Amino acid sequence: MKVTEHIKKAEGKTLFSFEILPPLKGQNIETIFDNIDQLMEFNPPFIDVTYHREEYEFKELSNGLLEKRIVRKRPGTVGICAAIQNKYKVDAIPHVLCGGFDKEDTENFLIDMGFLGIDNVVALRGDAVKSETYFKPEPKGNAYALDLVHQIADMNKGVYLDEDIQNTAQTDFCIGVAGYPEKHMEAPNMESDLHFLKKKMEGGADYIVTQMFFDNEKFFAFVKNCREAGITAPIIPGLKPLATQKQLNMIPHRFHVDLPEALIKEVLKAKTKEAVREVGIEWCIAQSQELIKNGVPFLHYYSMGKSDNIHKVARAVF
Ligand code: FAD
Repeated sequence: MKVTEHIKKAEGKTLFSFEILPPLKGQNIETIFDNIDQLMEFNPPFIDVTYHREEYEFKELSNGLLEKRIVRKRPGTVGICAAIQNKYKVDAIPHVLCGGFDKEDTENFLIDMGFLGIDNVVALRGDAVKSETYFKPEPKGNAYALDLVHQIADMNKGVYLDEDIQNTAQTDFCIGVAGYPEKHMEAPNMESDLHFLKKKMEGGADYIVTQMFFDNEKFFAFVKNCREAGITAPIIPGLKPLATQKQLNMIPHRFHVDLPEALIKEVLKAKTKEAVREVGIEWCIAQSQELIKNGVPFLHYYSMGKSDNIHKVARAVF
């Protein structure tokens, strides 16, 4: 079922959903199932599965030269989606990237998704590969999430890359896209970021999932700005319980979001790792409760491979 249909069916009740990462190459799927098992009691209508593009590594050879190798550390998005739908009978939503794919790869990926009975996808540009500063699309690839949204929306109309194919089946994907309450790091300002977000909605996207944030006021302002800009689609807040003291620096560095002073002070006061984790859980519970009061359609949690803290949050909130 489509995310937008889940929202309609809930008639204003806030639903629970979460995102998982495929395991590192060499690990088995049981760790993923263990994490999902813990969270099934909160009846998630969907589970997102991230996509991880290739990385470059340099290996020193015996002659002292460096060999550049392409590695894919977390493959398995498609297989995990199929396994989730099969085992838990809930919708699995793959993230689809521009980065690392040309349009033909994307088309074939989406055909596989359609055959698997997947009817939601999140369309994303992806980040630059780690060894590069700026994102570079593949030759004949999509440069922005907007272009990817157009490609998916075309397939929903039965338009494929090869114009000679006749009597094509129309796919029927509900399309999610990313939104940034604190602005995407590359956007020159918030107005520009909202301008392109609106283009994604006009191009065929159906709903927005936000980057994580730790200050609800940022989310409320973002929703207000979106509505004023004419963006009417559902906006799903993304939340992550802060889990370690190191994340005080890692989260702003990696996700370009600010942490509120009150949260930082609580984390610094905590004497043990467990106490820090509890601070993160309590903060996330308070955020979740306030967001529910404000009528958000879903609370979408970023599990990042560990679900014990999300379980504690969900138990307090749902
Ligand atoms: P876009 O919407 O293309 O925007 C990128 C930048 O370009 C923005 O600054 C925007 O303002 C600007 N822009 C957009 N369109 C245009 C245009 N036509 N001309 C000029 N400028 C433009 N990454 C992964 O690798 N795998 C994942 O699974 C993944 N999941 C994510 C899930 C969520 C909910 C979020 C919020 C992020 C996720 N990311 C993931 C990270 C994401 O790929 C990065 O944040 C990436 O840098 C931007 O992706 P986007 O889809 O927002 O890009």
